[in-house]
Amino acid sequence: MYEDFLISLLETNIRKTMKRRQFTKTLALGTAGILSPFNRLIAQQADAIKITILYNNIECSCNLESSWGFSAWIEGKEIATLFDTGGDQDILWRNMQKKNINLDKLSNIVISHNHWDHTNGLGLILEKTGYKPHVFVIKKDIEKLKKEYPRAKIKSVLKPKPIADNLWTTGQLTKYFPTDEINEQSIIILKSNKVYLLTGCSHPGIVETVETVKSIFPEKTIELVAGGFHLMRKPKNGVKEISDALKGLGVINLAPSHCTGEKATEIFRNEWGSNFRSLELGAEIEI
Ligand SMILES: [Zn+2]
Ligand SMILES: [Zn+2]
Repeated sequence: MYEDFLISLLETNIRKTMKRRQFTKTLALGTAGILSPFNRLIAQQADAIKITILYNNIECSCNLESSWGFSAWIEGKEIATLFDTGGDQDILWRNMQKKNINLDKLSNIVISHNHWDHTNGLGLILEKTGYKPHVFVIKKDIEKLKKEYPRAKIKSVLKPKPIADNLWTTGQLTKYFPTDEINEQSIIILKSNKVYLLTGCSHPGIVETVETVKSIFPEKTIELVAGGFHLMRKPKNGVKEISDALKGLGVINLAPSHCTGEKATEIFRNEWGSNFRSLELGAEIEI
C-alpha cells in the first residue's frame, strides 16, 4: 500500500512537472522506446537540465532586480554550474535567494571573460561556498583572477573540453583587433543528439562561436543559441547577415539577450518568428 502511495505521489509530481514544462515550452527528450511511458517520464526527469537567468539587464515583470551584466544557473540532478556572476554581488545574491538557489549543489563556476559585468559576483559566491567550486577561466585571464582570488580552485581553459556531465566549454576563442585581442569562452550543453549554446558577450563573434560548436560536434543539431551577442553598434544589414549566417549553420532557436542590443534583438525577433525565444532576467529553460 505504502509503495502504491509513493508511486501515485511520484506520478502526480511528474504530471505537475510535465505540465509546467509544457507551459515553459520545454524541449522534451525523445527517449528510445524500450521504456514504459511511466519509466520514460522518470528517466526524463532524472537527467533534466534547467537553466535559470539570475542576472540580466533585460528586465522581467518578476520580483528579481535587473542590472547590467549576466549570470545563469545551470542545474542538473546532482550538480550545478554557475555561468558568469553579474556586475553587482549583492544583486546577484538577492536574486539567488528569490530563486531559491541551492548553493550546496554548486560544483563549477565558469567565467566567460574577465569583464566586470560577468565577474563582480565571483568573490561573494566563493566566500559563500567556502571556495569549494572549481572556477574555469580562459588562459588569458588566469593570472589576473588568480591574484584577485588566491584561494579559488582556478582551472585554465584553452581548448574545448568537458567540464561536467553534458557540459562543455568552447575553449578560449579569440578575436583580433589591430592593436589588441579579446578572448572569451561559452558553454555548450549536450542532450541526446542536440546541443544548446550559452554565451556571455560573444566578443569573438556569435557566428564564429557557433562555428566552433559545429566543428566540435558536427553531427549534432544546434537546438538553441542563447545569451549576449554584443551587436549594439552593428548596422541593420550587418545584423541581418549574422542572422542569415546562424540559420545557415543550422541553428534552430535563437534567444539573444544581455548585450545584444535592442535594435538587433528586434531584427532577430522578426527574422526568427516562432523560433525566437525571449531570455529576460528570471527566464527558465528546461532541457
Ligand atoms: Zn564583455
Ligand atoms: Zn557583458
